[in-house]
Amino acid sequence: MAMSLAEGCHVILSKHQREIRRELRKLYRKLPAIFPVKLRWGKHQTAHATCNLDRKKKQFNLLIDPTTHPAQWLDLLIHEYAHALSWTHASDAKDTRWPDHGPLWGVAYARVYQVVSGDK
Ligand SMILES: [Zn+2]
Repeated sequence: MAMSLAEGCHVILSKHQREIRRELRKLYRKLPAIFPVKLRWGKHQTAHATCNLDRKKKQFNLLIDPTTHPAQWLDLLIHEYAHALSWTHASDAKDTRWPDHGPLWGVAYARVYQVVSGDK
């Protein structure tokens, strides 16, 4: 499982990381997902960023790899937040009739992009 920097007690976030947190707070205020969205910084085996729903804790966990370039982080946040926003039972079930980046996700992505870009 991915090691998370955010789990340490004395984590010092970079300026760019704090900006991403600020964007996440803004997103959650303007476009709340059905559960709180927690952001952690850590590496994943196959992806630069991931979104998962922890049904026990009733929270979404977003993970961004801090070794990726900071210029990518906002795009990664938008992409993963759109997963949180468009999450369905089909997402839990990995139901391939509803692909990860299908129409539901696409609409959510457009909404998230609007908020982040300040159009709405
Ligand atoms: Zn995705």
